[in-house]
Amino acid sequence: MSGTLGPDGGISILAGTMAEMTADEVAAAAKAGAVALWAFGVIEQHGPHLPTGTDIYLPAAKLRRTRVLLAERAITALIVPAYYWGVNHVSGAFPASPRVRPEVMAELMSDVIGSLSDDGFRHLFCVTGHGDAEHNRTIHEGIRRGSAGRPIRASFLADVGMVKRLGFAADDALVTPFQPAPSGPARPYMDVHAGEWETSAMLATHPALVRDAVLPSLVPTNFELEDLMEWRRGLEHAKRKTPLGYLGDPAAASLEQGQRSLEAQCVAMADAIAARVAVV
Ligand SMILES: [Zn+2]
Repeated sequence: MSGTLGPDGGISILAGTMAEMTADEVAAAAKAGAVALWAFGVIEQHGPHLPTGTDIYLPAAKLRRTRVLLAERAITALIVPAYYWGVNHVSGAFPASPRVRPEVMAELMSDVIGSLSDDGFRHLFCVTGHGDAEHNRTIHEGIRRGSAGRPIRASFLADVGMVKRLGFAADDALVTPFQPAPSGPARPYMDVHAGEWETSAMLATHPALVRDAVLPSLVPTNFELEDLMEWRRGLEHAKRKTPLGYLGDPAAASLEQGQRSLEAQCVAMADAIAARVAVV
């Protein structure tokens, strides 16, 4: 188990989660006021250089680090084992990108959130590892169903860009927005999927899973907003726009950039959790 984002930081997505605890330990922590953290990833193609579990490994690593930052803020957090059968709309025409119905995901979430509430958890923060809008709307819906009529206060801990893109209201009680500090220079082109930032983050957390030998050969997509909009139409549109599966500039990735951006996100997440726990 590791509390860092270093290269040894837990290849297993169960590392550091409640899957390593006994039932009594979990129950005692919930009773003592621990908050629960839950990541929602997906198995999805990530180009020729990143594993299909990238969107699970990254949020799992972020939650391990966020838990340490919360402990520094006198908040105990438990990590729920990551959910990894998310919704693929954009990448659904590629191999190794299973298409799970949003209804299935929302219902599973509802059952697990209800159980967490019954166990005594009063705060749950859900994070995403996957940018697909349909996946993230489903997280919101699963939170709504799972927490309705129950004492648990569950929310989608999402960066302000995601909150805006999905159209969540500023006062939506099911959303806890956070805003990470800028961690690098602005880039002229879109870097959205398996590009510079995501490859950097994997280099910082799971370097053994990055096919770095292929990186120099990956030409940047150099997409503008209208290209992104076409890609977001998904399925065959996305496959046509990005036949190699990535959108961005993976060859520009660096471990340092990955460490900077992940740390900025984890600090912002911990601050947002601390603020919400303090008022609710
Ligand atoms: Zn991804």
